[in-house]
Amino acid sequence: MADGALSKYQPVIGLEVHIQLLTKSKLFARDANQFGDEPNTNISAITLAHPGTLPKINQKALELAIIMGLACGSEISQYLIFDRKNYFYPDLPKGFQLTQDRTPICVGGSITVTTSKGMRVIELNRIHLEEDAGKSFHPSHSKDSLVDFNRAGTPLIELVTEPVIHNSEEAFQLLSEIRKLVTFLNICDGNMEQGSLRCDCNVSVRLKGATELGKKVEIKNMNSVRNVRRAIEKEVQRQVSEIELGHEIISETRSFDEKSGGSSSMRTKEEVNDYRYFPEPDLSPVSISDQWIEKIRQSMPVLPAELKKQLEERYSFSSEDALFLTDSVETFNFFSAAVTHSSNPESILNWMKGPIQSYLKDQGFSVNELPLTPIQVSELADITASKISFSVAAQKILPELLKVPNSTPKAVAERLGLLEDHNEDHLEPIVLDILDSFPDKVAAYRKGKKGLIGFFMGQLMKKTESKVDPRIANELLSKHLN
Ligand code: ADP
Ligand code: MG
Repeated sequence: MADGALSKYQPVIGLEVHIQLLTKSKLFARDANQFGDEPNTNISAITLAHPGTLPKINQKALELAIIMGLACGSEISQYLIFDRKNYFYPDLPKGFQLTQDRTPICVGGSITVTTSKGMRVIELNRIHLEEDAGKSFHPSHSKDSLVDFNRAGTPLIELVTEPVIHNSEEAFQLLSEIRKLVTFLNICDGNMEQGSLRCDCNVSVRLKGATELGKKVEIKNMNSVRNVRRAIEKEVQRQVSEIELGHEIISETRSFDEKSGGSSSMRTKEEVNDYRYFPEPDLSPVSISDQWIEKIRQSMPVLPAELKKQLEERYSFSSEDALFLTDSVETFNFFSAAVTHSSNPESILNWMKGPIQSYLKDQGFSVNELPLTPIQVSELADITASKISFSVAAQKILPELLKVPNSTPKAVAERLGLLEDHNEDHLEPIVLDILDSFPDKVAAYRKGKKGLIGFFMGQLMKKTESKVDPRIANELLSKHLN
């Protein structure tokens, strides 16, 4: 495809994001809502929809959905019904999914994202509550398929955006922002690999300036934010190529292929089910009072954007640094814990942005996997704010600490003989001794070769095995040279 072709078109994208809620039990039953358990162990008669069983709504799931709605500025619906979405699939024991077709719990709202082109407000259509299905497995060594119903009945919210996203970067940032929001709000663990957060992308293209939307294609089964971005890029290219070849886009659902970044057709719209939605007769409508909404609003966790602002105000951190510290709830919690043990927030920030961040990157670890406690990092921060230079601590103490997890930075520094000598009385004779040994260099310095200060500093570091505070050393050298 000629490069020019792409630029004639505007991509239009809408996301549907499924968010598994962190409740103890399922949406309509008391079975544990727990990932990774032995297959088919959390499956009561209600989850399996045995005849005569009755669903009962989980209040916590309602609360978590309302929290998300309030965070997005959505309107909270106060009269809810659940609808049966009827279809057959082996992982759906009931033969229908309970969802909210006509009365989504949250209506409208928006999420603001920052891209390389600036800020954009992405409008939401709705957030509704529904139950998850079970999971089918197709082992490669066998002709049989297996099904695990543990996931059936897990509470989900589905967040549906308006078709207002125009490139893969916006989609990437939006999904990252959603993951950040739900983890800070503690309503979902945000794990895309395990499927607690899943995203379907609806993609169409139209000629720039056109007002009507093109036919949309839905892409499923991306298991990371990065893959969502890849999938959209490939799909936009595919659609533009098709149109340029004079072909029509067919409305279809496609499955993402991790290897190629492309997708293949799963089903076309003609094959689409008629779900025959109707209100669930076994559940009474739910009403949500103003008082309850208010109570939830009062006790809601602070939003990441607000936490960022607080860091900027309390510690005079730059916007970039505050964004780094609120990039994930783990990073923020780690910093918050470290700062309660230290009077050097700036130094903690530098440790976290610098050596710790590089270590995590090298190891492919998340903050949770860091073999250091916030207390250890606060001690590192304190020690480098007073006694030992940052670079020495980063090169010598940190690697030791990572090797011997239960040690303290101070103990390691002592063991390695790194504690700086602050005593000027002790340093002064060493300085004088050095100046005596290099009379030519002293004379040259006094004639104007001021750069020689570096040479003297080097000698001093050598003699003291780097155990001096560079600032004090500099003062002493200047005093005797001038
Ligand atoms: P459906 O009826 O197929 O479920 P909806 O109108 O409910 O479609 O929209 C589902 C998702 O698809 C929403 O996120 C919406 O923004 C998006 N969407 C709808 N039409 C288009 C389009 N023409 N191009 C891209 N995305 C679209
Ligand atoms: Mg729809």
